[in-house]
Amino acid sequence: MKKPLIVAGPCSAESREQTLATCAAIAALGKVDVLRAGTWKPRTKPGGFEGSGVRGLGWLTKARELTGLPIMVEVATTDHVEKALKADVDMLWIGARTTGSPFSVQEIAEALRGVGKPLYIKNPLNPDIDLWTGAVERLEKCDVGEIGLIHRGFASMSGEFRNAPMWHVAIEMRQRFPEMTMLCDPSHICGNRTLLQSVAQRSADLGFDGLMLESHVDPDNALSDSFQQITPQVLGLLLDSIQWRSERGHSEQFVLALEMLRSEIDQLDGELLSILSRRMMVADKIGVAKRENNVAILQPERWNKIVERILAQADSLRLSREFLSVVLEALHNESIDRQNSIMSR
Ligand code: PEP
Ligand code: MN
Repeated sequence: MKKPLIVAGPCSAESREQTLATCAAIAALGKVDVLRAGTWKPRTKPGGFEGSGVRGLGWLTKARELTGLPIMVEVATTDHVEKALKADVDMLWIGARTTGSPFSVQEIAEALRGVGKPLYIKNPLNPDIDLWTGAVERLEKCDVGEIGLIHRGFASMSGEFRNAPMWHVAIEMRQRFPEMTMLCDPSHICGNRTLLQSVAQRSADLGFDGLMLESHVDPDNALSDSFQQITPQVLGLLLDSIQWRSERGHSEQFVLALEMLRSEIDQLDGELLSILSRRMMVADKIGVAKRENNVAILQPERWNKIVERILAQADSLRLSREFLSVVLEALHNESIDRQNSIMSR
């Protein structure tokens, strides 16, 4: 596969005009290798725009004829596979929601047995690397042809990204399947236009093999994912700005390892903070109960027991008693401060 491999196109094929205009403008950049568009759209609720189906496949094959570029669509059912193969689509991808469903992946794998079209597997919505790996294995077992990976981030309820990149998961996947082409999908990671460039550059720095990006002639009026789509013109500027790194050498190994560890630290810090916040909320509830029952805030006996119990675990946790003491004292002081303000309300 060419490196970098650039896949771009609208989130959805919405109409003949939108599909052809977008694909023609993207092809004219001369920087994109494959045109993408969703023709079946998995939507959270029924009744929204669920894609253009076979009609969309027709518009895409027309775009291929006009631009000479190969086309790629998402398949989620055996019916999609049949229709995409009938339209002789060049490449396929399995979406995040489908990767997370082993029955669906199995059915798609069987429908693609021996077909030999390049097939890309997006990561599942949740950061379960074994689920992603399982999807690869199901498809490998059916000998579907060349398999690639797409990192599109993991569902998250907080933070600046629509889907948290959790780079360490993608890096680990790359280590499990070093021969597979891995693309980054900054559009679905970001969910907005402002972060696209930095996420795309980050993936290039990490040695990804290319990008999948959503682009639309009129992003603000797109029927799906309008916040994250960019015009073909902006796409051209973005692609020009990316610095692709050379093949992996000794120091790239180091960069990868460091990146993976840092991403793990970021993840753990997030979990630590959320646990701290939950702990303080429980302390607040205790404060309310103490106020209602007219009980003093400071309960030295209870606290001494907590400290004793925790310090006894210092060795097995491989944390120094000094460090644990400082952390515990800070926790205790904060809890007392909060309960004090509850008491005086
Ligand atoms: C898409 O590529 O438009 C799409 C639906 O992606 P994902 O499966 O990553 O949400
Ligand atoms: Mn989309």
